[in-house]
Amino acid sequence: DPRIHAIQSRIRVVPNFPKPGIMFQDITTLLLDHKAFKDTIDLFVDRYKGKNISVVAGIEARGFIFGPPIALAIGAKFVPLRKPRKLPGKVYRQEYDLEYGSDCIEMHVGAVEPGERALVVDDLIATGGTLCAAMNLLERAGAEVIECACVIEIPELKVCTSLIHASIFLLLFCS
Ligand code: 5GP
Repeated sequence: DPRIHAIQSRIRVVPNFPKPGIMFQDITTLLLDHKAFKDTIDLFVDRYKGKNISVVAGIEARGFIFGPPIALAIGAKFVPLRKPRKLPGKVYRQEYDLEYGSDCIEMHVGAVEPGERALVVDDLIATGGTLCAAMNLLERAGAEVIECACVIEIPELKVCTSLIHASIFLLLFCS
């Protein structure tokens, strides 16, 4: 798809951010280009419209940029999966391992009904730990995760074994 190349060209790679040795994939430059941003959303919408998905769950923070326009276009609700202590109601909480230490995401109890068909959206997958935690939250609420969708994959060891059974859709691969 010729749109993919244009999207890729709008992602800025920033060496040594946020710490030495990391090549940071900066999607804010993609957002500055209306056509490339719209094409990104359209590629996801074309894949998911008509698939009976009722929930798009976006991971804080960049899943909040790509998730809501997809949700609106496919007729689904949007559920934010947030960093700890941001959601005011009762939450499901899922911890996950990072390279150093651990992190956590939360989802409101009652945001998703048992049996709902869910799509998880984030900007980027590296180890897959964040997506795994997101899938766990949705499954604990009784939802069926149909697929996870990310703009970018960076090839790293995928540490999360439950990802082996998950369906993941990616637009771009970065080397
Ligand atoms: P993982 O859990 O798969 O190792 O890391 C993915 C998470 O880290 C995503 O939520 C993503 O937003 C964030 N992340 C890690 N590295 C980058 C990067 O280079 N660019 C961007 N935009 N996000 C990153």
